[in-house]
Amino acid sequence: MEYDNLLKKNNLKTTPQRLLIIEKLHKEGHLSVDDLYIALKERFISISLATIYKNINIMTQKSVIQEVKIPNQKSVYELTKQEHSHVVCSKCNNIYDLQLDTHDLLKQANSLGDFCISSSVVLFNGTCKECM
Ligand SMILES: [Zn+2]
Ligand SMILES: [Zn+2]
Repeated sequence: MEYDNLLKKNNLKTTPQRLLIIEKLHKEGHLSVDDLYIALKERFISISLATIYKNINIMTQKSVIQEVKIPNQKSVYELTKQEHSHVVCSKCNNIYDLQLDTHDLLKQANSLGDFCISSSVVLFNGTCKECM
């Protein structure tokens, strides 16, 4: 993947810090701000948490990355991709993608009446392969 293009396409200046955030998310899938802070500090020793937040916020605004909200846990971030659901492993707390088709779910929700429902966030809890 061309990380550089991903930023340019969204009118964001390419900086080594942004590139590293994208690279890490591409490799690891889902990371919290703290995870990213630790990862970036390895290469940019003097980077501050505020700088990480600033970069994450602007890239979230531009939909380069997106926030995944998890109840009772810190939000994680991932590269923006096709709509999907998530599974949280109750043993290791890792977050995994689940390619679940939620169209039927939306249809069902809409057929109940009172709302015009356009999207859904589905989060599952379970045990991942490594923890099983
Ligand atoms: Zn697990
Ligand atoms: Zn995901």
